[in-house]
Amino acid sequence: MVNRLGALCGKIAGVKTRTANGVRAVMNIIIAKTAGFCSGVQRGIGLIEKALAAQGKPLYALNFPVHNAVAVSGLIGRGLKFLNSLDGLAKDGALLIGTHGACPEVYAVAQANGIEIVDATCPMVKRVQRTARMAAGHSDMVIIVGNRNHTEVKSVCEWAGTGKALVIESVDDVRNIPRGLSLAIVSQTTFSCREFGMIVDFIRKSAASGAIEVFRTICPATFRRQEEVRELAGIADKIFIIGDSSSANSLRLVETALFENTPAKLVSSSGEITAEDLEGVEILGISAGASTPDEVIRQCKNKIITIADNAHVTSG
Ligand code: SF4
Repeated sequence: MVNRLGALCGKIAGVKTRTANGVRAVMNIIIAKTAGFCSGVQRGIGLIEKALAAQGKPLYALNFPVHNAVAVSGLIGRGLKFLNSLDGLAKDGALLIGTHGACPEVYAVAQANGIEIVDATCPMVKRVQRTARMAAGHSDMVIIVGNRNHTEVKSVCEWAGTGKALVIESVDDVRNIPRGLSLAIVSQTTFSCREFGMIVDFIRKSAASGAIEVFRTICPATFRRQEEVRELAGIADKIFIIGDSSSANSLRLVETALFENTPAKLVSSSGEITAEDLEGVEILGISAGASTPDEVIRQCKNKIITIADNAHVTSG
């Protein structure tokens, strides 16, 4: 069994646990290979750290550049500051655009006022923005499948243009699509691959539309993480997804495990892991959102080992 798990996932640690009758059992902890930072977050944080280290202009952000409190507090510690609006940004400051991107107006206002931009938008998010803008040129409406309150989705709506975009969060929203229009469908980069397919099918079947063009803009990092959690769910008794509740991709990983009927818990820090969580668990799967720092994953793993029996790690 462990060999099979090893081929599937990253690190395996056997942790001796003590059961109620004192018999020692082994709990296997399997950490997904893809757990933690994706290339887009790594690139974004690298750019931000470089800008902060340059010690030129102060660097201001309008929102969290990545959706993880620990990663953000690390950046605040290095000097990152926040603003509510561009109005408060003096010319001696530079504007940070986070990995989730920004709408065209933010670029326009900054440029018009001579404000330097540090653009950490993930290239995968840029791809959705460009696709939405391009598709808006020849389709009546751009459908954005994603969470309407997410920074990325809000910006993609703006890139599509006023009156051109409609956000669909679930199959229930499909009824809001006006009839008889040609549609271009894109998705939030971190949306559920399974749900996106379902929504597209539903639109094809139910909307009396003209041409429908589908752009599969879920990023490869999201696809791989969801696939890995899906496979892990087939063998683990329980799955922990380490990430913040503001992290869309972390929430999607929890949903992926639950859809496979494997209990799953979102854990933002080691303090949220309890002995009850591990009761009766022989194989524990762990994955983490694309913006979860390694340090947080390590702390969670150590907490699990401590709870299990001040632990003896047999491999890892
Ligand atoms: S999850 Fe995907 S879109 Fe988001 S930062 Fe990572 S690579 Fe980019």
